Amino acid sequence: MSPNAPRVAPRGDVALMHGYHSPQLEVDVRLNTNEAPGSPPDAWRQALADELATVDWHRYPDRAAIRLRDAIARHQHVDPGQVFAANGSNEVLQTLCLTYGGAGRTVLTFEPTYALHAHIARITGTGVVEGERDERFALDSPTVCGLVAEVRPTITFLCSPNNPTGMLESEQVVRDALDVVTAVGGLLVVDEAYGQFAPWSALELVDDERPLVVTRTFSKTWSMAAARLGYLVGPTWVVEEMEKVVLPYHLDVVTQAAGALALEFEAEMKERVASVVEERGRVFAALSELPVEVWPSDASFILFRPTDREGGEVWRELVDRSVLVRDCSSWPRLDGCLRVTIGTTEEDDAFLAALEEIL
Ligand code: PMP
Repeated sequence: MSPNAPRVAPRGDVALMHGYHSPQLEVDVRLNTNEAPGSPPDAWRQALADELATVDWHRYPDRAAIRLRDAIARHQHVDPGQVFAANGSNEVLQTLCLTYGGAGRTVLTFEPTYALHAHIARITGTGVVEGERDERFALDSPTVCGLVAEVRPTITFLCSPNNPTGMLESEQVVRDALDVVTAVGGLLVVDEAYGQFAPWSALELVDDERPLVVTRTFSKTWSMAAARLGYLVGPTWVVEEMEKVVLPYHLDVVTQAAGALALEFEAEMKERVASVVEERGRVFAALSELPVEVWPSDASFILFRPTDREGGEVWRELVDRSVLVRDCSSWPRLDGCLRVTIGTTEEDDAFLAALEEIL
């Protein structure tokens, strides 16, 4: 392009932003984006292929995604009117911010947490206040409630288990947060992208009388990151407002079918989750034998920090050995940290062997 080619300046705040950076490198062992280690069952693939053979491609998909929402509602024992589905839970979060955020409104996060909460809020023109976790990355009720009462945000984000630390929020913290969020007229969003790996879920608190939504994804436990499907369970009045905001026909026919059919294979999903949880224990024990600080995890990944080596250097040396993990070492508050997704036994062995060699 010539240096004089016309360029249009983006919105001032966008010009200052950094996009989402997670390199998709060609390596043998990819443990950087918390994808599931295995595929959904062959029977699901076949059922989806059979159904796609009968699609009316000249027609728009069902705009209200009724079959999918009914299936999710049955799965979560809620009313279909309490389910909003979208292209990945990222689109759910974006639609929440478009509906309830915007100029003059504020989102509250507790850092370090999933970077997209603050990023999506900013893209939608919403102000962001970043609260802090303690030095062990834990949250307690006085910290959460004090800040909610002070900031009076329209949206308060919790992430449980939290990415990238792996830590579950206790029921007490979520209940206390919900009380104070209700008192200031806000909405509490609990991001449970890794909810099925953990022993407790905020889903049991969802009710039309409470300003609480819980987001979930098919990308992790359902082994369907390729499909881009996520949803929230929340009060009917939240779902109704979000339906006004989201683009018409945003969920294509393939995604809707893939999700509805996946829910017929719940037993297989639970087996996959159980094996990731078991493998997580093994990787945690192995990391504990190495010169790294390691955080207990209720998710499908583990955060660790080499104690004698610089994190970014260790990351590069892992890539040299064809192992890709997430480099959080230069992120605020995560100095020197790396995050590894739980993979197959073979992938995890390759990661552990490479790390041991490097350290
Ligand atoms: N929330 C959290 C906490 C995540 O870690 C992720 C994926 N990395 C997402 C939401 C988004 O997932 P998806 O858009 O694939 O549903």
